[in-house]
Amino acid sequence: MSDIERVKCLIIGSGPAGYTAAIYAARADMHPVLYQGMQPGGQLTTTNEVENFPGYPQGITGPEMMLELQAQAERFQADIRTGFIDKVDFSGPVHKAWTEDGKEIHADTVIISTGASAKYLGLENEQRLLKAGGGVSACAVCDGFFYRGQETVIVGGGDSACEEAHYLSKLCSKVTMLIRRDEMRASKVMIKRVENTPNIEILYNTQTIDVVGEEGVEGVHVKNVVTGEEHTIPATGFFVAIGHKPNTDIFKDYINLDEVGYIKYEKPGTSKTNVPGVFVAGDAADKEYRQAITAAGTGCMAALDAERYLASLED
Ligand code: NDP
Repeated sequence: MSDIERVKCLIIGSGPAGYTAAIYAARADMHPVLYQGMQPGGQLTTTNEVENFPGYPQGITGPEMMLELQAQAERFQADIRTGFIDKVDFSGPVHKAWTEDGKEIHADTVIISTGASAKYLGLENEQRLLKAGGGVSACAVCDGFFYRGQETVIVGGGDSACEEAHYLSKLCSKVTMLIRRDEMRASKVMIKRVENTPNIEILYNTQTIDVVGEEGVEGVHVKNVVTGEEHTIPATGFFVAIGHKPNTDIFKDYINLDEVGYIKYEKPGTSKTNVPGVFVAGDAADKEYRQAITAAGTGCMAALDAERYLASLED
């Protein structure tokens, strides 16, 4: 029993949602403890330039912005810890959580800010080469460096795919974008950017059949879904940018999720989940906006809601 740590506010996850919640909770004397999770700083650490977060007129890189948010939370003595929470029990009045090395934490309030993770196509060779470190990646900014001067392929037609294709185009001799429909989902400005980049080729109506290669990626076998024609595109890097899955598996026995796994708000317009004292912020509950600024905004809401909940316990 003596190993159990008792905290007022446990924050799980370290993107803009988690750090903003930590800043607010710390300034409200809730002494928040934040576990950074598997990817400290969250998805923005895999983003190149953030140009749309208010307050940075010249833009800022994702990793830099996350370090600044962390420093801001630490300025108010938020306890930021490496490591992750891999189990929770929200069945009783005390919210229990366990770290990956078995440490047990009892929290009056919990703020879930676990975000979302990149999705893959699920093709056999894609998964085999991904595990083998053989040329498959969901993060151009992390791995593009390895393909300098080489040909790469990227799947997806959203803003992420466009941003990553553009990033790769500066490093690689050629980038081929595979779009499964006859149009992209990305915003107009992003589409224009890739269309105007000479070494990006965009293939619409194109399905990825398989990744080719034994030890590493050698090419990508594709099919035009309109003509039925198939061919293999030579490439040494295969990037996937087809969206994300919310990181909510550990909560599923206690917290109401939608069919995809996003946390459902108990009361729209608040950060409340179905469990009193457990709140959610950021992409774990947001399939609509998924922006750093909206994540930060909901992080603030979660900390304020947690503070009010704590006050109600003392009444
Ligand atoms: P999106 O869900 O917006 O786009 C996913 C893309 O992948 C779509 O083109 C989709 O095709 C395609 N796709 C999905 N599954 C498959 C599959 N199995 N095979 C082939 N293609 C597939 O995800 P993003 O990650 O691009 O963006 C998420 C959010 O983040 C968006 O709101 C976006 O605007 C935002 N964002 C903003 C940025 C910025 O402002 N700088 C940068 C990056 C993201 P289909 O359209 O046919 O479903």
